[in-house]
Amino acid sequence: MSDPTTDLSYTQAMKRLRHRRWFLWGIILIYVPVIWLSLRVTGSDRATAIVFAVWLLLVCVAVVRAAFALCPRCGNTFHMNGFVPLYLRQCVHCQLHITEDSLPAEEADTEEETSP
Ligand SMILES: [Zn+2]
Repeated sequence: MSDPTTDLSYTQAMKRLRHRRWFLWGIILIYVPVIWLSLRVTGSDRATAIVFAVWLLLVCVAVVRAAFALCPRCGNTFHMNGFVPLYLRQCVHCQLHITEDSLPAEEADTEEETSP
């Protein structure tokens, strides 16, 4: 079995998983500034409703992408166990942490010394 910390596809899967999470949280965080900016710039409720509809669509896409992201270790959905998504920092099935592929500098150094 390959070492998950050095396996490139494993690392890429973890990066993709983190990217999907950042996209979700980013979309949620920009809500207030975007709506405020839309009201400020356009001064129109109708235009702001369109901005809101676009934001809502992006949130739906982000929620679904993050909810159905697969765990690289166990192969199950990382955030979903059953029908309810839980956007925790570890897999709801195998408890793999979202940053598990990036070792701290000290651990990485000792690992290099022990490997042949
Ligand atoms: Zn897992």
